[in-house]
Amino acid sequence: MPDSALNQVRQRIRIACENAGRDPASVRLLAVSKTRSDREIRTLHARGQTAFGENYVQEFVDKHDALEAAPDPLGIEWHFIGALQGNKTRAVAERAAWVHTIDRERIARRLSEQRPSGSPPLQVCLQVNVGGETQKSGVDPREVFALAGAVTALPGLELRGLMTLPPAETDPERQRKPFAALRELQQALIREGHALDTLSMGMSGDLEAAILEGATLVRIGTALFGPRPPQSKEPSA
Ligand SMILES: *Cc1c(COP(=O)(O)O)cnc(C)c1O
Repeated sequence: MPDSALNQVRQRIRIACENAGRDPASVRLLAVSKTRSDREIRTLHARGQTAFGENYVQEFVDKHDALEAAPDPLGIEWHFIGALQGNKTRAVAERAAWVHTIDRERIARRLSEQRPSGSPPLQVCLQVNVGGETQKSGVDPREVFALAGAVTALPGLELRGLMTLPPAETDPERQRKPFAALRELQQALIREGHALDTLSMGMSGDLEAAILEGATLVRIGTALFGPRPPQSKEPSA
């Protein structure tokens, strides 16, 4: 990974914030490290990147346990951003600081029950299917309010905001649509009394559009690490 990749991404975030009239400190960078080696994570961490996101449970467990082992844990803030099956929630509840992909109550309930009692509540986002048909995962926007209510009642979770993974789109104007829809949904939830401060949206190809629409956390893989190996699965969450 060239040293400049991290700086280039930080620069893109800064410029996007300037164009949006926003404070660059209001947007966090999550490094998406799926398919990347422990070494690549260590390298980026040594350059000051503290939050990393993983998509696949077993890969997440392996990396987490290798990099956070005593006596020299890195102290990474681990985010789980992949699809979650009910039988795999425990490993995530025990290791992640954040989960971005809550899209049904059953998974939320399991994560809450399985969160170790000594740990702070798991910070969570509801994944919303704002794009419509082409997207497989995420709660329907009309069901977000009920899900938010259910998640808020769970003691092991703290609801922080919304996440979306829209279909790939290269036109910058059209990229903004699902991000704007997510922001509007967040505002509607805030009006209902939910204290939400997080909009997890924007990836390597659309972070500028996401920041224009209010993203507070962008999830970046390719622009930091280069293209993923061809056998890797496509973004799935
Ligand atoms: C892979 C992935 C990303 C990063 O995508 P890039 O285009 O490589 O930046 C972000 N979010 C989710 C949910 C992903 O699966």
